[in-house]
Amino acid sequence: MTEFKRDRSHLSYCPPVEKWDDWVEYDAEAWPRRVEKHYQLVPTICFNCESACGLLAYVDKATGQVAKFEGNPKHPASRGRLCAKGPATINQIHDPDRILYPMKRSGPRGGGKWTRTSWDEVLETFGARIRKAFQENRGEEVMYHVGRPGYDFTMERTLQAWGIDGHNSHTNICSSSARLGYLLWHYSDRPSPDHANARFILLLSAHLESGHYFNPHAQRIIEGKMAGAKLAVMDPRLSNTASMADYWMPSYPGTEAAVLLAMAMVILKENRFDATFVKNWTNWEELEVDGFRAQGQSFEALIEALKRHYAQFTPEFAEKESGVKAEVIVKTAREIATAGSRFASHLWRGSASGNLGGWQPARALMLLHALTGSVGTPGGHNLNAWNKFVPRPFKNPPPQRRWNELLYPLEWPLCTHEMSFLLPHFLKEGRGRLEAYFTRVFNPVWTYPDGFSWIEMLRDEEKVGLHAALTPTWSETAWFADYVLPMGFSSERHDLMSQESYAGKWIGFRQPVLRVLQEREGKKFDYTYQANPGEVWEEDEFWINLSWAIDPDGSMGIRQWFESPYRPGQKLTVDEYYGWIFENSVPGLREAAAKEGLKPLEYMRKYGAYEVTTDVYKLNEKPVAAADLSGSKVEANGVVTKEGKAVGVMVDGEAVVGYNTPSRKLELFSKTMADWKWPEFALPEYYRSHIHRSAQAASMGNSAEDFDPRYMPRVEWPKDSNGEVYTLLPIFRLPHLIHTRSGNSKFLYEIAHKNPLWVNPVDAKKLGDIRTGDLLKVHTEIGFFVLHAWVTEGLAPGVVACSHHLGRWRINQEDQIERMSSAWVDLQEVGKGGWKMRQISGVEPYDTSDPDTKRVWWSDAGVHQNITFPVHPDPITGMHCWHQMVRVERANAGDRYGDIFVDTNLSFAVYQRWKALARPAPGPGGLRRPLWIPRVARPEEAAFFISTKKA
Ligand code: SF4
Repeated sequence: MTEFKRDRSHLSYCPPVEKWDDWVEYDAEAWPRRVEKHYQLVPTICFNCESACGLLAYVDKATGQVAKFEGNPKHPASRGRLCAKGPATINQIHDPDRILYPMKRSGPRGGGKWTRTSWDEVLETFGARIRKAFQENRGEEVMYHVGRPGYDFTMERTLQAWGIDGHNSHTNICSSSARLGYLLWHYSDRPSPDHANARFILLLSAHLESGHYFNPHAQRIIEGKMAGAKLAVMDPRLSNTASMADYWMPSYPGTEAAVLLAMAMVILKENRFDATFVKNWTNWEELEVDGFRAQGQSFEALIEALKRHYAQFTPEFAEKESGVKAEVIVKTAREIATAGSRFASHLWRGSASGNLGGWQPARALMLLHALTGSVGTPGGHNLNAWNKFVPRPFKNPPPQRRWNELLYPLEWPLCTHEMSFLLPHFLKEGRGRLEAYFTRVFNPVWTYPDGFSWIEMLRDEEKVGLHAALTPTWSETAWFADYVLPMGFSSERHDLMSQESYAGKWIGFRQPVLRVLQEREGKKFDYTYQANPGEVWEEDEFWINLSWAIDPDGSMGIRQWFESPYRPGQKLTVDEYYGWIFENSVPGLREAAAKEGLKPLEYMRKYGAYEVTTDVYKLNEKPVAAADLSGSKVEANGVVTKEGKAVGVMVDGEAVVGYNTPSRKLELFSKTMADWKWPEFALPEYYRSHIHRSAQAASMGNSAEDFDPRYMPRVEWPKDSNGEVYTLLPIFRLPHLIHTRSGNSKFLYEIAHKNPLWVNPVDAKKLGDIRTGDLLKVHTEIGFFVLHAWVTEGLAPGVVACSHHLGRWRINQEDQIERMSSAWVDLQEVGKGGWKMRQISGVEPYDTSDPDTKRVWWSDAGVHQNITFPVHPDPITGMHCWHQMVRVERANAGDRYGDIFVDTNLSFAVYQRWKALARPAPGPGGLRRPLWIPRVARPEEAAFFISTKKA
């Protein structure tokens, strides 16, 4: 027997760059013979989540095809490591069912009949329709709606070049509540925790296993832990992340802010806060609360006022609200105080996305950072804008003049992003129509709540004139499109990306691998679809060409933005677009490339990523630039202004840049909230979520002490709902799946393909001795779904949970649509607004050119829960509040696994009840929205005023 070799220095961690042109491995299939395989390795960027990790495509020199994907060691954020979804890209590109050619509907919309068309016809059709809409001043009828962006800035630029306010996103079902909590403090709407250097890490969601910036963050959380950091996880569910924690705090959903404020009180009462930081870097002098005005008062008086204001947040109160033990709250608060400036945290989805008022946990969490002075510090909380780099292209269009109320309606003036998930209801209310609608890597019928309302909208040709689904895979939404346009995966397209993954700034370059390789060999292509499989294209070239199709002679002023910066009047190429950026907009890249005798574009094609800087701490303390200082003045509140615009703030006698908030400091007190009709939330607060026990009692007609109708919508159960009332957590991610895009990945679906209902044993008993595998019927406010139970102690009693990402379905058995991940269903309309779905069969083996599809052994595709959820727009942030109040019972004799029923009339009524809680614009001065709050594809300032609505 061969002795086990402990010395592994003969093994490679990742292939070194100098061997990328000819990397040799033995062919595993030829074993035990040693047959060499030769690969060329080409870097690109993963497209399977927002993290943008670096991939290396291994192109087999013998076949010219990509054989596998591994990590790119030169990528500064992912450093050669990937999660399961990165290597699974190989399944996506080789899926025998993938869409290879542009398709056009040939029967009624939703009828499932398609014929192949050409890209030229697509461009001609859309170009003409959009041109006519623009000429008739109907620009707001053209809308681009994105699910997974996977790029930075290119679409904002494209739509502004068209002069329209037409950018819609998925953010309001994803993260907009957390964003408001963060941006009120420091303008940047995302955190960038420096996990690797932290001493204490607090996560309010499952970031170690599946959360935001998953792989880059996970490796740094572990680094922090290996260096001695403690980890605390606040999550009602024992996630894999919680199982790795020193403290698991299973809080009742929606009570997280109460726990965080109790921690803040421990730090305040024990006098363990960083007084110098709070004094210098918060806007404490503006605070007004409970009759106390800080202006002119001492800092000590402010601290006493805060203690009085938060007095009710004792550890015991927080325990009563949340279920987290008071002693754990005290202990973790002290650990946070001890970590001081090395306290890192992350909150993104989880409590923020689940709950009404989900922005308050982010606001309360930031109070802990302000108190510990852990903002902008090594091991602390950084701003996303400090750790993300978005270089600008050669020429940018001016902001659009119009404001589209289908995107930013008056009811939610503080929403951080477009009110995207309400679009079907807006159209139903007659607020507008769409002439040309582009959905891009976006499947609202399946990922959004209330998917049947989306079907009703999409199939209505009066409401949606022409719909193109730009997508790498089939989806439930694409089924209701007029055109299905195949767009590339990670190795089939260009994009430039950056994310706030660690304490540094980087850019990553996604590239079409086969095109790049063939061009290296001297072959020429006009378009990427000529090198990709079939005629799979990429969006960059599609939008450039569509812009030319809309404005062929340049007379509309659109074409100019898509002309080459090097060849006047000629069509811009992707090489020119990115080449210009790399040469001119990325500090240091030109020099780094020159050292290797390369042009910047060649450098990025060779390495796939570039680290721009690691000088990212305490950027608020940078001195105001001399040019800004000259001619500036200092206002009474210390803000330094020049020509009416803030450029900095005085701190300790020095003019420094500060934060982009109105006070240029961290805003402990938000005058914005007070001015925009929510004065009770000017400070970080806790108020109860829509699924709080008091709301549950009210829904059952029981006495509901503390049910506050100012904030909580009343739940009205459909007539036939039965069973016990629970809170359903529907949004936790499985680490292996990717919303719709993993549907054609055999590696990933073999790992995960079930989404049973998690039930605590206490509740299983209450429900009639439910056992794992029993069928349960879950009633929402608008319908029900039927699925299996999984009895587990990994969840707090009173709460049930069902994972997102599963429950894909297809209407047609024959069509080659995601057959390894979807159930074949019978979908019927029952009267007006009634929708009934029953599974005819689950997943079955099937015959394709890939022999593995015959070996598919699983039959479960999961159950589609989201489609049974009504929309819940948070009255302040507009975010869809995902958690559901549900009634759970044992399934009845006639119920079958996967059964679904929904009444869209009820979903419209729920929408109306939630909308009534909002406090609409105008705000001060007739504004639609505060001027200082950012907006995607921001229009010109005049459009922010309601009186200029028709501008
Ligand atoms: S975390 Fe996984 S899915 Fe996301 S970009 Fe990285 S490798 Fe891809």
